[in-house]
Amino acid sequence: MRDPTSFLRQEYDDLVRQELDWRLRVLGGPSTTWCIVDGKRVLMFCSNNYLGLSNHPKLKEAAIRAVETHGAGSGSVRPIAGNMDLHTELERRLAKFKGAEASLVYQTGFAANAGLIPQLVGKGDLIVSDELNHGSIIDGVRLSQAERKVYKHADPEDLGRVLDESEKASPAFRRILVITDGVFSMDGDIAPLDKVAAIGAEHGAMVYVDDAHGEGVLGDGGRGIVSHFKLPREKVQVEMGTFSKAFGVVGGHVSGSRDLVNFAYNKSRTWLLSGSHPPAVVAACLAAIDVLEDEPEHVRRLWENTRYFKKAMRDLGFDIGKSETPITPVMVGDSGKAKRLSSRLFEIGVFALPIVYPMVAQGKARIRTIMNAALTREDLDFAIGAFEKAGKELEILPAERVA
Ligand code: PMP
Repeated sequence: MRDPTSFLRQEYDDLVRQELDWRLRVLGGPSTTWCIVDGKRVLMFCSNNYLGLSNHPKLKEAAIRAVETHGAGSGSVRPIAGNMDLHTELERRLAKFKGAEASLVYQTGFAANAGLIPQLVGKGDLIVSDELNHGSIIDGVRLSQAERKVYKHADPEDLGRVLDESEKASPAFRRILVITDGVFSMDGDIAPLDKVAAIGAEHGAMVYVDDAHGEGVLGDGGRGIVSHFKLPREKVQVEMGTFSKAFGVVGGHVSGSRDLVNFAYNKSRTWLLSGSHPPAVVAACLAAIDVLEDEPEHVRRLWENTRYFKKAMRDLGFDIGKSETPITPVMVGDSGKAKRLSSRLFEIGVFALPIVYPMVAQGKARIRTIMNAALTREDLDFAIGAFEKAGKELEILPAERVA
Protein backbone atom coordinates (compact mmCIF):
# COMPACT_ATOMS: atom_id res chain seq x y z
CA MET A 1 0.00 0.00 0.00
CA ARG A 2 1.12 3.51 -0.79
CA ASP A 3 2.36 5.44 2.25
CA PRO A 4 0.26 8.65 2.26
CA THR A 5 2.97 10.47 4.21
CA SER A 6 5.94 9.57 1.98
CA PHE A 7 6.07 13.17 0.69
CA LEU A 8 7.18 14.32 4.13
CA ARG A 9 10.52 12.55 3.95
CA GLN A 10 10.96 13.23 0.21
CA GLU A 11 10.38 16.96 0.46
CA TYR A 12 12.58 17.25 3.52
CA ASP A 13 15.35 15.28 1.78
CA ASP A 14 15.04 17.61 -1.23
CA LEU A 15 15.55 20.61 1.04
CA VAL A 16 18.58 18.98 2.64
CA ARG A 17 20.05 18.15 -0.78
CA GLN A 18 19.67 21.78 -1.87
CA GLU A 19 21.01 22.97 1.51
CA LEU A 20 17.76 24.91 2.04
CA ASP A 21 16.76 23.19 5.29
CA TRP A 22 16.93 24.96 8.63
CA ARG A 23 19.43 23.49 11.07
CA LEU A 24 18.46 24.90 14.40
CA ARG A 25 21.11 26.20 16.74
CA VAL A 26 20.36 26.00 20.46
CA LEU A 27 20.82 28.81 22.99
CA GLY A 28 21.84 27.39 26.34
CA GLY A 29 20.67 30.40 28.38
CA PRO A 30 19.41 33.95 27.83
CA SER A 31 19.81 35.94 24.63
CA THR A 32 22.59 38.23 25.80
CA THR A 33 25.49 39.79 23.89
CA TRP A 34 27.86 36.94 24.79
CA CYS A 35 25.77 33.80 24.96
CA ILE A 36 26.01 30.04 24.72
CA VAL A 37 25.03 28.70 21.30
CA ASP A 38 25.37 24.96 20.66
CA GLY A 39 27.51 24.80 23.79
CA LYS A 40 29.99 27.45 22.57
CA ARG A 41 30.42 30.97 23.98
CA VAL A 42 29.86 33.38 21.10
CA LEU A 43 28.99 37.00 20.43
CA MET A 44 25.32 37.31 19.41
CA PHE A 45 25.16 39.26 16.17
CA CYS A 46 21.84 38.24 14.66
CA SER A 47 19.06 38.47 17.23
CA ASN A 48 16.20 40.97 16.98
CA ASN A 49 16.76 41.94 20.59
CA TYR A 50 18.02 45.37 19.43
CA LEU A 51 18.04 47.03 22.85
CA GLY A 52 19.02 44.03 24.95
CA LEU A 53 15.66 44.21 26.76
CA SER A 54 14.95 40.46 26.68
CA ASN A 55 17.27 40.08 29.66
CA HIS A 56 16.70 43.49 31.31
CA PRO A 57 16.21 43.16 35.10
CA LYS A 58 13.03 45.30 35.06
CA LEU A 59 11.36 43.03 32.49
CA LYS A 60 12.39 39.88 34.35
CA GLU A 61 11.18 41.25 37.69
CA ALA A 62 7.84 42.33 36.18
CA ALA A 63 7.33 38.87 34.66
CA ILE A 64 8.09 37.11 37.95
CA ARG A 65 5.80 39.45 39.90
CA ALA A 66 2.94 38.91 37.42
CA VAL A 67 3.19 35.13 37.83
CA GLU A 68 2.79 35.65 41.57
CA THR A 69 -0.16 38.06 41.29
CA HIS A 70 -1.95 36.68 38.18
CA GLY A 71 -0.73 33.09 37.70
CA ALA A 72 0.98 31.28 34.83
CA GLY A 73 -1.77 31.49 32.20
CA SER A 74 -4.77 33.64 31.32
CA GLY A 75 -7.30 30.80 31.17
CA SER A 76 -9.05 31.71 27.92
CA VAL A 77 -9.26 33.76 24.76
CA ARG A 78 -9.73 37.45 25.50
CA PRO A 79 -13.37 37.78 24.32
CA ILE A 80 -14.45 35.03 26.73
CA ALA A 81 -12.65 34.96 30.08
CA GLY A 82 -9.01 35.71 29.27
CA ASN A 83 -9.03 39.52 29.32
CA MET A 84 -7.06 40.53 32.41
CA ASP A 85 -6.49 44.04 33.74
CA LEU A 86 -2.87 43.64 32.58
CA HIS A 87 -3.96 43.19 28.94
CA THR A 88 -6.06 46.36 28.89
CA GLU A 89 -3.36 48.31 30.75
CA LEU A 90 -0.78 47.28 28.13
CA GLU A 91 -3.02 48.58 25.34
CA ARG A 92 -3.59 51.86 27.18
CA ARG A 93 0.17 52.33 27.70
CA LEU A 94 1.06 51.35 24.15
CA ALA A 95 -1.44 53.79 22.63
CA LYS A 96 -0.03 56.55 24.83
CA PHE A 97 3.56 55.62 23.83
CA LYS A 98 2.60 55.68 20.15
CA GLY A 99 0.51 58.85 20.42
CA ALA A 100 -2.45 56.92 18.99
CA GLU A 101 -6.09 56.97 20.02
CA ALA A 102 -6.08 53.21 20.70
CA SER A 103 -4.00 50.04 20.41
CA LEU A 104 -4.82 46.34 20.24
CA VAL A 105 -2.41 43.58 21.26
CA TYR A 106 -2.38 40.31 19.31
CA GLN A 107 -0.56 37.11 20.30
CA THR A 108 2.15 37.75 17.68
CA GLY A 109 2.92 40.14 14.86
CA PHE A 110 2.21 37.32 12.43
CA ALA A 111 -1.25 36.89 13.98
CA ALA A 112 -1.90 40.63 13.64
CA ASN A 113 -1.11 40.68 9.91
CA ALA A 114 -2.81 37.36 9.15
CA GLY A 115 -5.88 38.30 11.20
CA LEU A 116 -6.43 41.93 10.29
CA ILE A 117 -5.48 42.35 6.61
CA PRO A 118 -8.17 39.98 5.26
CA GLN A 119 -10.81 41.82 7.28
CA LEU A 120 -9.84 45.30 6.14
CA VAL A 121 -10.24 44.38 2.48
CA GLY A 122 -12.24 41.66 0.75
CA LYS A 123 -14.23 41.03 -2.40
CA GLY A 124 -14.46 44.13 -4.60
CA ASP A 125 -11.43 45.75 -2.92
CA LEU A 126 -7.79 46.25 -3.90
CA ILE A 127 -4.53 45.67 -1.97
CA VAL A 128 -1.29 47.16 -3.24
CA SER A 129 1.78 45.72 -1.52
CA ASP A 130 5.55 46.42 -1.68
CA GLU A 131 7.28 43.52 -3.48
CA LEU A 132 9.63 42.87 -0.53
CA ASN A 133 7.01 42.86 2.24
CA HIS A 134 7.32 40.33 5.05
CA GLY A 135 5.86 36.81 4.75
CA SER A 136 3.18 37.53 7.37
CA ILE A 137 1.87 40.36 5.17
CA ILE A 138 1.99 38.07 2.14
CA ASP A 139 -0.07 35.46 4.01
CA GLY A 140 -2.53 38.11 5.25
CA VAL A 141 -2.91 39.36 1.69
CA ARG A 142 -3.45 35.81 0.40
CA LEU A 143 -6.21 35.25 2.96
CA SER A 144 -8.08 38.26 1.60
CA GLN A 145 -10.57 38.01 -1.28
CA ALA A 146 -9.39 41.41 -2.56
CA GLU A 147 -7.63 41.94 -5.88
CA ARG A 148 -3.86 41.98 -5.23
CA LYS A 149 -1.17 44.05 -6.88
CA VAL A 150 2.52 44.48 -6.10
CA TYR A 151 4.57 47.65 -6.57
CA LYS A 152 8.33 47.88 -7.06
CA HIS A 153 10.28 47.86 -3.82
CA ALA A 154 10.20 51.21 -2.00
CA ASP A 155 9.17 52.97 -5.22
CA PRO A 156 6.34 55.50 -4.65
CA GLU A 157 6.18 56.34 -8.36
CA ASP A 158 5.49 52.72 -9.17
CA LEU A 159 2.89 52.61 -6.40
CA GLY A 160 1.15 55.56 -8.11
CA ARG A 161 1.33 53.79 -11.47
CA VAL A 162 -0.18 50.57 -10.06
CA LEU A 163 -2.99 52.51 -8.35
CA ASP A 164 -3.75 54.56 -11.51
CA GLU A 165 -3.78 51.50 -13.76
CA SER A 166 -5.86 49.38 -11.37
CA GLU A 167 -8.44 52.10 -10.93
CA LYS A 168 -8.65 52.64 -14.69
CA ALA A 169 -9.19 48.92 -15.29
CA SER A 170 -11.95 48.60 -12.67
CA PRO A 171 -13.00 52.01 -11.38
CA ALA A 172 -15.38 50.85 -8.65
CA PHE A 173 -13.18 49.45 -5.90
CA ARG A 174 -15.02 49.58 -2.60
CA ARG A 175 -11.84 50.08 -0.54
CA ILE A 176 -8.11 50.23 -1.26
CA LEU A 177 -5.31 49.20 1.10
CA VAL A 178 -1.68 50.20 0.54
CA ILE A 179 0.67 48.13 2.67
CA THR A 180 4.41 48.28 3.36
CA ASP A 181 7.03 47.15 5.83
CA GLY A 182 8.53 50.12 7.69
CA VAL A 183 12.08 48.73 7.79
CA PHE A 184 12.79 45.90 5.36
CA SER A 185 14.28 43.05 7.32
CA MET A 186 16.66 41.62 4.70
CA ASP A 187 18.27 44.90 3.56
CA GLY A 188 17.69 47.26 6.47
CA ASP A 189 16.33 50.05 4.25
CA ILE A 190 13.48 52.32 5.37
CA ALA A 191 10.22 52.56 3.38
CA PRO A 192 9.52 56.06 1.99
CA LEU A 193 6.42 56.14 4.17
CA ASP A 194 5.85 59.89 3.78
CA LYS A 195 5.54 59.51 0.01
CA VAL A 196 3.64 56.22 0.22
CA ALA A 197 1.12 57.86 2.57
CA ALA A 198 0.74 60.90 0.30
CA ILE A 199 0.07 58.74 -2.77
CA GLY A 200 -2.29 56.52 -0.77
CA ALA A 201 -4.23 59.64 0.31
CA GLU A 202 -4.54 60.84 -3.32
CA HIS A 203 -6.32 57.57 -4.09
CA GLY A 204 -8.45 57.50 -0.95
CA ALA A 205 -6.58 54.37 0.22
CA MET A 206 -5.96 53.16 3.77
CA VAL A 207 -2.23 53.09 4.55
CA TYR A 208 -0.91 50.17 6.66
CA VAL A 209 2.70 50.00 7.89
CA ASP A 210 4.34 46.96 9.50
CA ASP A 211 6.87 48.58 11.82
CA ALA A 212 8.27 45.36 13.36
CA HIS A 213 11.88 46.49 12.80
CA GLY A 214 11.31 50.22 13.33
CA GLU A 215 9.92 50.14 16.84
CA GLY A 216 12.42 50.74 19.59
CA VAL A 217 14.80 51.77 16.80
CA LEU A 218 13.47 54.70 14.74
CA GLY A 219 11.81 57.94 15.73
CA ASP A 220 11.59 59.87 18.97
CA GLY A 221 12.70 57.51 21.79
CA GLY A 222 12.09 54.48 19.56
CA ARG A 223 8.46 55.34 18.81
CA GLY A 224 8.83 53.99 15.30
CA ILE A 225 8.54 54.99 11.66
CA VAL A 226 5.52 57.30 11.92
CA SER A 227 7.48 59.33 14.46
CA HIS A 228 10.66 59.07 12.30
CA PHE A 229 8.88 60.84 9.41
CA LYS A 230 6.99 63.15 11.83
CA LEU A 231 3.80 62.16 10.05
CA PRO A 232 0.46 63.25 11.45
CA ARG A 233 -1.15 60.11 12.85
CA GLU A 234 -4.17 60.24 10.56
CA LYS A 235 -1.92 59.82 7.47
CA VAL A 236 -1.13 56.22 8.45
CA GLN A 237 -4.34 54.56 9.48
CA VAL A 238 -2.86 51.24 10.62
CA GLU A 239 0.48 51.09 12.46
CA MET A 240 1.29 47.47 13.16
CA GLY A 241 4.21 46.22 15.22
CA THR A 242 5.59 43.54 17.50
CA PHE A 243 6.88 43.10 21.04
CA SER A 244 9.16 40.29 19.83
CA LYS A 245 12.04 42.45 18.58
CA ALA A 246 13.30 45.65 20.25
CA PHE A 247 10.77 45.26 23.08
CA GLY A 248 12.44 41.94 23.91
CA VAL A 249 9.32 39.84 24.64
CA VAL A 250 6.58 38.57 22.26
CA GLY A 251 3.26 39.84 20.92
CA GLY A 252 1.90 41.78 17.95
CA HIS A 253 -0.06 45.00 17.99
CA VAL A 254 -1.89 47.56 15.91
CA SER A 255 -2.39 51.22 16.73
CA GLY A 256 -4.64 53.82 15.17
CA SER A 257 -8.14 55.13 15.75
CA ARG A 258 -10.61 53.74 18.31
CA ASP A 259 -12.76 52.73 15.32
CA LEU A 260 -9.87 50.66 13.93
CA VAL A 261 -9.34 48.85 17.25
CA ASN A 262 -13.08 48.17 17.79
CA PHE A 263 -13.28 46.78 14.24
CA ALA A 264 -10.03 44.78 14.54
CA TYR A 265 -10.85 42.88 17.71
CA ASN A 266 -14.38 42.07 16.67
CA LYS A 267 -13.26 40.76 13.27
CA SER A 268 -9.76 39.22 13.49
CA ARG A 269 -10.13 35.49 13.87
CA THR A 270 -6.51 35.13 15.04
CA TRP A 271 -7.40 37.41 17.96
CA LEU A 272 -10.87 36.08 18.73
CA LEU A 273 -10.07 32.39 18.59
CA SER A 274 -6.62 32.10 20.17
CA GLY A 275 -5.68 32.15 23.87
CA SER A 276 -4.43 35.44 25.29
CA HIS A 277 -0.90 36.12 26.50
CA PRO A 278 0.11 34.75 29.89
CA PRO A 279 0.44 37.46 32.59
CA ALA A 280 4.25 37.25 32.61
CA VAL A 281 4.39 38.18 28.92
CA VAL A 282 2.04 41.13 29.32
CA ALA A 283 3.85 42.44 32.40
CA ALA A 284 7.23 42.18 30.66
CA CYS A 285 5.84 44.13 27.66
CA LEU A 286 4.57 46.83 30.05
CA ALA A 287 8.01 46.98 31.67
CA ALA A 288 9.59 47.30 28.20
CA ILE A 289 7.51 50.43 27.58
CA ASP A 290 8.64 51.78 30.98
CA VAL A 291 12.26 51.16 30.03
CA LEU A 292 11.87 52.86 26.64
CA GLU A 293 10.31 55.89 28.33
CA ASP A 294 12.71 56.08 31.29
CA GLU A 295 16.05 54.93 29.83
CA PRO A 296 16.64 56.67 26.48
CA GLU A 297 20.29 55.58 26.55
CA HIS A 298 19.48 52.19 24.98
CA VAL A 299 18.23 53.66 21.69
CA ARG A 300 21.14 56.14 21.69
CA ARG A 301 23.69 53.34 22.17
CA LEU A 302 22.06 51.23 19.47
CA TRP A 303 22.68 54.00 16.94
CA GLU A 304 26.23 54.74 18.19
CA ASN A 305 27.07 51.05 17.80
CA THR A 306 25.40 50.91 14.39
CA ARG A 307 27.40 53.87 13.06
CA TYR A 308 30.69 52.50 14.46
CA PHE A 309 30.16 49.03 12.98
CA LYS A 310 29.00 50.24 9.56
CA LYS A 311 31.97 52.61 9.22
CA ALA A 312 34.52 49.95 10.23
CA MET A 313 33.03 47.38 7.84
CA ARG A 314 32.95 49.88 4.95
CA ASP A 315 36.56 50.92 5.70
CA LEU A 316 37.60 47.27 5.53
CA GLY A 317 36.08 47.09 2.05
CA PHE A 318 32.92 45.04 2.73
CA ASP A 319 29.83 45.72 0.64
CA ILE A 320 27.18 46.46 3.29
CA GLY A 321 24.35 47.35 0.91
CA LYS A 322 22.12 50.37 1.38
CA SER A 323 20.96 49.80 4.93
CA GLU A 324 20.04 52.88 6.96
CA THR A 325 19.27 51.00 10.16
CA PRO A 326 20.86 48.61 12.72
CA ILE A 327 20.28 45.75 10.26
CA THR A 328 23.54 45.57 8.32
CA PRO A 329 23.77 42.99 5.53
CA VAL A 330 27.30 41.91 4.65
CA MET A 331 26.94 41.07 0.98
CA VAL A 332 28.68 37.92 -0.24
CA GLY A 333 26.78 36.93 -3.41
CA ASP A 334 27.25 33.18 -3.58
CA SER A 335 25.08 31.12 -1.18
CA GLY A 336 27.79 28.54 -0.44
CA LYS A 337 30.31 31.25 0.36
CA ALA A 338 27.86 33.04 2.66
CA LYS A 339 27.32 29.78 4.55
CA ARG A 340 31.10 29.22 4.81
CA LEU A 341 31.57 32.76 6.09
CA SER A 342 28.91 32.22 8.76
CA SER A 343 30.52 28.91 9.86
CA ARG A 344 33.97 30.49 10.01
CA LEU A 345 32.66 33.43 12.04
CA PHE A 346 31.05 30.98 14.45
CA GLU A 347 34.38 29.14 14.87
CA ILE A 348 36.07 32.45 15.66
CA GLY A 349 33.26 33.34 18.10
CA VAL A 350 30.63 35.44 16.28
CA PHE A 351 27.10 34.17 15.69
CA ALA A 352 25.67 35.71 12.50
CA LEU A 353 23.44 33.77 10.13
CA PRO A 354 23.64 33.59 6.35
CA ILE A 355 20.58 34.66 4.35
CA VAL A 356 20.47 32.78 1.08
CA TYR A 357 18.11 31.99 -1.80
CA PRO A 358 15.05 31.72 -1.67
CA MET A 359 14.94 34.23 1.22
CA VAL A 360 16.79 36.67 -1.06
CA ALA A 361 17.34 36.60 -4.84
CA GLN A 362 19.94 34.23 -6.37
CA GLY A 363 23.41 35.78 -6.21
CA LYS A 364 22.41 38.11 -3.35
CA ALA A 365 23.41 35.89 -0.42
CA ARG A 366 24.65 37.74 2.62
CA ILE A 367 25.35 37.58 6.31
CA ARG A 368 22.67 39.60 8.04
CA THR A 369 24.02 41.27 11.15
CA ILE A 370 21.73 42.98 13.64
CA MET A 371 23.17 45.51 16.05
CA ASN A 372 22.54 45.45 19.78
CA ALA A 373 22.68 48.40 22.18
CA ALA A 374 24.34 46.27 24.86
CA LEU A 375 27.45 45.47 22.77
CA THR A 376 30.57 47.25 24.05
CA ARG A 377 33.26 48.84 21.87
CA GLU A 378 35.46 45.83 22.71
CA ASP A 379 32.74 43.44 21.54
CA LEU A 380 32.33 45.37 18.30
CA ASP A 381 36.09 45.37 17.67
CA PHE A 382 36.11 41.61 18.25
CA ALA A 383 33.31 41.13 15.69
CA ILE A 384 34.94 43.45 13.15
CA GLY A 385 38.25 41.57 13.58
CA ALA A 386 36.43 38.26 13.04
CA PHE A 387 34.82 39.55 9.83
CA GLU A 388 38.19 40.83 8.60
CA LYS A 389 39.95 37.53 9.30
CA ALA A 390 37.22 35.31 7.82
CA GLY A 391 36.63 37.73 4.92
CA LYS A 392 40.30 37.51 3.91
CA GLU A 393 40.47 33.73 4.31
CA LEU A 394 37.44 33.32 2.05
CA GLU A 395 38.66 35.98 -0.39
CA ILE A 396 35.63 38.18 0.13
CA LEU A 397 38.15 40.85 1.05
CA PRO A 398 41.46 41.12 -0.81
CA ALA A 399 44.06 38.94 0.97
CA GLU A 400 46.81 40.66 2.97
CA ARG A 401 49.59 41.85 0.67
CA VAL A 402 53.05 40.62 1.67
CA ALA A 403 55.51 43.54 1.68
N1 PMP B 1 6.59 41.67 10.31
C1 PMP B 1 7.91 41.74 10.11
C2 PMP B 1 8.45 42.77 9.17
C3 PMP B 1 8.76 40.86 10.78
O1 PMP B 1 10.09 40.90 10.58
C4 PMP B 1 8.21 39.91 11.68
C5 PMP B 1 9.09 38.94 12.46
N2 PMP B 1 9.96 38.20 11.70
C6 PMP B 1 6.83 39.88 11.84
C7 PMP B 1 6.04 40.79 11.16
C8 PMP B 1 6.18 38.89 12.75
O2 PMP B 1 6.30 39.32 14.06
P1 PMP B 1 6.17 38.30 15.28
O3 PMP B 1 7.53 37.76 15.57
O4 PMP B 1 5.64 39.13 16.39
O5 PMP B 1 5.20 37.23 14.86
